[in-house]
Amino acid sequence: MSRKGGGPPRKTGHLSDTQLGELSEELLRQLERLKKSMKITDEALRTVELDQTAVGRLSRMDSLQNQALSAGLREREAARLGQIVAALQRVDAGLYGTCASCGAGIPFERLFVFPEAPECASCVA
Ligand SMILES: [Zn+2]
Repeated sequence: MSRKGGGPPRKTGHLSDTQLGELSEELLRQLERLKKSMKITDEALRTVELDQTAVGRLSRMDSLQNQALSAGLREREAARLGQIVAALQRVDAGLYGTCASCGAGIPFERLFVFPEAPECASCVA
């Protein structure tokens, strides 16, 4: 059943319940995947720390480089985790899919690719 033009705006806006369900499932899947990969990154960071006590200068430089890479990765993962958690909170609050900057509905096609996106494409650009 779809009504044209007007009608009381539902809290989740332009997304159908099915779409919203799909997107929040995808967010949960990505959250799980991210948590796993963060665990691996954490282990990589720890391993490098242990290595540094027992290795020569060259491999020490290698492990410092690896540590920098892992630390950068860790930062990106943490930022992404924050975005996914925030998106799930917006689902709970009934605000999901609405641009945090301009309030416009974010198209399903965009959310399908970036389910954690807090803003519409024109606000990010
Ligand atoms: Zn916007």
